[in-house]
Amino acid sequence: MQVDLNLIKKYNKPGPRYTSYPTVPHFSESVGINEWEEQIRLNNQVNNRDLSLYFHLPFCPSLCWFCGCTVVITKRQDRTVEYLDYLFTEIDLIKKRLHPNRKVVQLHFGGGTPTYLSPDQILGLGEKIHRSFTFAHDSELGCEMDPREITKEHINALREMGFNRASMGVQDFKPAVQKAVNRIHSKEMVKEVVDWIREAGFQSLNLDLIYGLPLQTPRSFEKTLQDILEINPDRLAIFNYAHVPWMKPHQKLIKESELPSPGEKLDILKIVIETLTSSGYVYIGMDHFAKENDELAIAQQEKSLQRNFQGYSTKSGVDIYAMGMSSISQLDFIYAQNFKDLPTYYNRIEKGVLPIEKGFIMSEDDITRRNVIMRLMCDMELDYNVMSSQLGIDFRSYFKSDLTKLDEFETDGLLVRSQDKITITEEGRLFVRNISMTFDAYLDKSQTRYSKTV
Ligand code: SF4
Repeated sequence: MQVDLNLIKKYNKPGPRYTSYPTVPHFSESVGINEWEEQIRLNNQVNNRDLSLYFHLPFCPSLCWFCGCTVVITKRQDRTVEYLDYLFTEIDLIKKRLHPNRKVVQLHFGGGTPTYLSPDQILGLGEKIHRSFTFAHDSELGCEMDPREITKEHINALREMGFNRASMGVQDFKPAVQKAVNRIHSKEMVKEVVDWIREAGFQSLNLDLIYGLPLQTPRSFEKTLQDILEINPDRLAIFNYAHVPWMKPHQKLIKESELPSPGEKLDILKIVIETLTSSGYVYIGMDHFAKENDELAIAQQEKSLQRNFQGYSTKSGVDIYAMGMSSISQLDFIYAQNFKDLPTYYNRIEKGVLPIEKGFIMSEDDITRRNVIMRLMCDMELDYNVMSSQLGIDFRSYFKSDLTKLDEFETDGLLVRSQDKITITEEGRLFVRNISMTFDAYLDKSQTRYSKTV
């Protein structure tokens, strides 16, 4: 892959990751409980739409300094007991609003560290969810795992509850990097947990890595990748570290002088792409890799890949109902986010109301642009005729002025245009966030400082 460092310098500017469109900073408190209740009612009129459930389990015993999640750091395991009480009530509130015919095709435990719950608590939560909702026979149940906070009993409890997908945060194996971000675990620890996961019969294992962390070098990350290849995961997510200390003040604990330069990050990224694609993985979307026969790779080939708050997914046409503090639900016409502070989240549930803090009602234009950005982020191309028929518009005239803004990307070799479509080149893939920003109607009005795109 040939990428000019000057291009990195030119395009490495703040921009969204587009796990939603519009992005969370545009959510407003003017969208509250009434709007959310109304959208659930409308959504539920079509009673055969599939469900995707997300549960946010925010507790972690210590803070990783790069963390961008909404977390509660505590050594008091008993705080989970109170949280689960409220979460169970929220499950009841959602359950009674959804038609019982609707099937869950996807469930995800995220956090925080879901396995900060004890194995018995996992069984209790799992049973509650299964009693409350009907699952499709081939549903995907995934859980995020931290190798430092998990036992064989946790893995077995998750399997007993039907979990079939494991996703573990590894980030980097280099000890100096781990120390610089306050997250220390050995390779042996990860391998042992992977053995438990495989023995228990999970169908799929994903590992998360992060590049752009302090003290990483292209050589050291290559070594981490070699160790990862020995573990042989089905999928890998290789995230670009988002350094946003103005939004996440604890990231100030990371020494900026130790962060790799844009040139080093580019070299790391090249090594990632070359190593993984020559080792049987397909490059998926912006930052994922999957074995050739993995559903993600197949979905990408068939152009049915989806992108949402959990990253890339194969499930289209599903409504995401999210529970737990700070979690974000997504229906066709609304995003709704729960309160991010525990006292208010608890207080709303005590009052018997859905604990929504803010949200966003989608206009027709928002829905059209969301589709365009999601197709770009998933397919790395836009076919004008396909988009016109999917969206019920004349794509060329609807986006006439936006399309002219792509000239510079074309000149720089980041995309090619034909009569009928835009195709992002191999080099352009690194800049897909920048290219997608062309279709974002809110960017100019945004006061938000996003992380850098490369
Ligand atoms: S374990 Fe995960 S969620 Fe918890 S602090 Fe570390 S990165 Fe954040």
